[in-house]
Amino acid sequence: ENALIEFRNLKTHFHTSNGTVKAVNDVSFKIREGETLCVVGESGCGKSVTAMTMMRLIDSPHTSDGQIWFEGKDLLKLNKGQMQQIRGNDISIIFQEPMSSLNPVLTIGEQITEPLLMHTLMSKKEAHARAIELINLVGISRSEEIFHSYPHELSGGMRQRIMIAIALSCNPKLLIADEPTTALDVTIQAQILDLMRDLKDKLKTSIMLITHDLGVVAEMADYVVVMYAGNVIEEAPVIELFKNPQHPYTQGLLKAKPVINQKMDRLYSIPGQVPNPIELGENCHFHDRCSHCMQICKDQAPPLNEKENGHKVACWLYEKEGGQRI
Ligand code: SF4
Ligand code: MG
Repeated sequence: ENALIEFRNLKTHFHTSNGTVKAVNDVSFKIREGETLCVVGESGCGKSVTAMTMMRLIDSPHTSDGQIWFEGKDLLKLNKGQMQQIRGNDISIIFQEPMSSLNPVLTIGEQITEPLLMHTLMSKKEAHARAIELINLVGISRSEEIFHSYPHELSGGMRQRIMIAIALSCNPKLLIADEPTTALDVTIQAQILDLMRDLKDKLKTSIMLITHDLGVVAEMADYVVVMYAGNVIEEAPVIELFKNPQHPYTQGLLKAKPVINQKMDRLYSIPGQVPNPIELGENCHFHDRCSHCMQICKDQAPPLNEKENGHKVACWLYEKEGGQRI
């Protein structure tokens, strides 16, 4: 039950010519050792920004506040060199579109051996052997041939397997996967999820899996964090969350059928709009869409409090001050 990573009151705000975009607002949660934690929410809810803040990979003008604890260090306080030691070594990330993360002019082999040569004392020959092992590990045969090929010669599913191989090359303690299967067709998606589950069992890596897909959550998660408009609004062990959702937004997500072939932000048929992140106030960000909305919801942000069974929810319905209970 040890926390590997702990986010404490994380805020990431972007400074744009239109105003301050409050992408992440006071987010706190833990990822435990050996656990798969799914962060779920609609596009723009702050889930990717949370991960990118942790990796210190945000390059547009922003401020980040709060702490991200990893092995006694606050990642937000590390300098570039220290962070580079952690990235790809202790914490790795894979993205939705493997083509844009792979370098088109380098062979697969060069890209898998690169982090090994950078973060370990391996010789070129040892790195080559390790790369072959990794290619096999992610379920690709003909590993020598693949080692010498270029990204464009591989299918989307193969490229994502290679991304996973690169991410796992230095035995990271945490693998962040940001919508890793969204760009793949359904069969390949299932294969990649199977692979990730297998690897997690084998390697005991913790996984932070970012997704908008509740099917993926049901299949992969040990623990779930639900985000809405920059906040964690509910978190619980996966079975508890599906059995007993507390927040009206989570209840809506679980009832809503995903709308096929729609843009991501309209994926769930919950009435109303996600609020403009520039105009977010100190209140419940879901109040415009909530059928239980009370006066206090418009005036004050509900605290994220633990109810039972490790189940936390941020909603005035469950607080004495809310006055009304379901
Ligand atoms: Fe609805 Fe109020 Fe709960 Fe927000 S705090 S989800 S508006 S009941
Ligand atoms: Mg995203």
